[in-house]
Amino acid sequence: MKPPPFEYAAPRKTDEAVALLAQHGDRAKVLAGGQSLVPLLNFRLAQPEVLVDVNRVAELAYVRPVDSGIAFGALTRQHTVERSDDVRARLPIVTEACRLIGHLPIRHRGTIGGSLAHADPASELPAVMVALEAELTAVRRGGRRTLPAEQFFTGIFTTALAPDELLTEIRVPGLPSRTGSAFVEIARRAGDFAIGGIAALVTLDDAGRVGRARLALCGVGPTPIRAREAERVLEGERPEGRALDEATDKIVAATDPPGDIHASAAFRKKLARHVGRQAIGLAARRAGGGS
Ligand SMILES: Cc1cc2nc3c(=O)[nH]c(=O)nc-3n(C[C@H](O)[C@H](O)[C@H](O)COP(=O)(O)OP(=O)(O)OC[C@H]3O[C@@H](n4cnc5c(N)ncnc54)[C@H](O)[C@@H]3O)c2cc1C
Repeated sequence: MKPPPFEYAAPRKTDEAVALLAQHGDRAKVLAGGQSLVPLLNFRLAQPEVLVDVNRVAELAYVRPVDSGIAFGALTRQHTVERSDDVRARLPIVTEACRLIGHLPIRHRGTIGGSLAHADPASELPAVMVALEAELTAVRRGGRRTLPAEQFFTGIFTTALAPDELLTEIRVPGLPSRTGSAFVEIARRAGDFAIGGIAALVTLDDAGRVGRARLALCGVGPTPIRAREAERVLEGERPEGRALDEATDKIVAATDPPGDIHASAAFRKKLARHVGRQAIGLAARRAGGGS
């Protein structure tokens, strides 16, 4: 299949891209890495009249340490994120999750902003950004707004972005000391989309109890799911025994999985328990200095 005809614009500045989106509204689509949009065009599942190709907007591609966290330009390639020493040192869960996205050629083109704006429920980065409590900035002609990652994802392949808004920056706060993290997923083959996965961040106090936990799942609901009840169960407890059992029960209760050709809803719930237990254990060990 070939894409339907479209007009093509290749702005070099954020302002120009935003002006084009304002002009064309929902008749336009932003083209970033093209790793999701181009197949959609070729299958004619998306038929925009105008493509606004932002690949030449160099000011949107950066990885910038800010305080103890990191700011990512939306156009930063997933591979650049994966290779960044700053990201590995400050937010190792982002590095870990990026390595699980498709295969290397896909990550060379695919962007962090494209992955978030596409909002595939099985994608790794949306769940990671929800667990990390990232703030996402969207710009439209004459204004900008910043919203928490959890509010950005509103449904399957759906976000809070308006048609004339461009996602420009993802800002992740630094992690407290003695925080360990883990991203664990199950996929049929390396490089496939996850059937289900979880991002876990565990901060331990001096006595080895959980001071803070952040848990967000992918593939088991229409959006990334923050498992707040499970976090509460863990806090103040050692991440083992009854507390861990109860937390994994709460993780399963938080899910709302679909059944499809890849896995039944019941299987996905079992999987959520499995990856939840594994990720919490791994994050806690890493918080204590283990690997
Ligand atoms: C074979 C294969 C395997 C894959 N496996 C995985 C996987 O395991 N995990 C995973 O997460 N992904 C996977 N992907 C998808 C990949 O991560 C894509 O890179 C990502 O989904 C989209 O990023 P992109 O930069 O290519 O965006 P594009 O395809 O260019 O755009 C995707 C959507 O986001 C919108 N968009 C992009 N940038 C912006 C912006 N700055 N502001 C507003 N809207 C924007 C576009 O208009 C479009 O609707 C896979 C892709 C392929 C082809």
